[in-house]
Amino acid sequence: MRGRLVHVGSAVVDYVYRIDALPAAGTEKTATSYARVAGGGFNMMVAASRTGMKVVFGGQLGTGPDGDFLRAAFAAEGIETLTPPSPSMDSGNCVAMISGDAERTFVSWPGAESQLTPAVMAPVTIMAGDWVFTSGYTLSYPDSRDVLADWIEALPAGIPLVFDPTPVIADIPRPILNRVLARTTWLSCNTNEAAEIAGPGDAQTVAIRLLAEHCPRGDGVVIRAGAHGCLVRIADGGTRAVPGFEVEAVDTNGAGDTHIGAFVSGLSRGMPPCEAARYANAAAALSVTRHGGSSAPTHEETQEFLTQ
Ligand code: ADP
Repeated sequence: MRGRLVHVGSAVVDYVYRIDALPAAGTEKTATSYARVAGGGFNMMVAASRTGMKVVFGGQLGTGPDGDFLRAAFAAEGIETLTPPSPSMDSGNCVAMISGDAERTFVSWPGAESQLTPAVMAPVTIMAGDWVFTSGYTLSYPDSRDVLADWIEALPAGIPLVFDPTPVIADIPRPILNRVLARTTWLSCNTNEAAEIAGPGDAQTVAIRLLAEHCPRGDGVVIRAGAHGCLVRIADGGTRAVPGFEVEAVDTNGAGDTHIGAFVSGLSRGMPPCEAARYANAAAALSVTRHGGSSAPTHEETQEFLTQ
């Protein structure tokens, strides 16, 4: 049986305003459209779930309208939550302003998910065959990061940890980042994050350094490169560029989330890493052709796209 994806990360509500041009400081603008969607790591979970994994969430949701909104979104995608909601705080949210030139500004409030304690994490039990995922969100919150790093270090030896340092790697204190990287089985990040961890250089050199010097227990590293696809470095040898698919992109928000969700799903199906990366490129390419919040495709849609 395929293991579950245990997502110990973030789920917040995104309030997304599209505007002709971002407002200057001290000015106000009327948005041309508005949407309320589930965000944070939600789209990664959706991608893994739609491509066939059983997904469970091991972070803290809140009590209030944003927590209720997220619970409904989780239920609609068949994603189960393992931890009880915070008794005193609502879920976090993020106000996103996106201009016609695709300039973006974000203001976020983490809310309940920033209050991890060992008691909150206690129900997040791991079973043989599970895949654990975490991201940079929780590792950047002062009241949560040590709890999560301790929990990660206590994971049973055979359980793979997949790590994406998104969204702001600079907000993760370096000692915490290093502790998580040291336990990481698969690191997936974009080119900027890769260079921030391993220093500048061409993608291949950075990938080699990432794995050898920063993720010594890793099976591999995936560096996502937008329309170009991704670069995969595997521990037992070789670095391969896995090309992206040419599509008409209309909304690239969440492409990275879809990529990593589909990648883990592919690995859990037993695909070799470069095949899983190609599968992830296909799922992410499909997602960028669609507008809106959770645009990840299903396994069947991805397979059909790959055989066209
Ligand atoms: P992030 O959102 O984390 O910055 P990327 O922009 O690199 O990540 O996108 C993640 C993946 O989505 C890429 O590796 C690629 O497979 C796919 N992708 C992104 N943009 C496009 C595009 N314009 N056309 C086709 N595929 C894309």
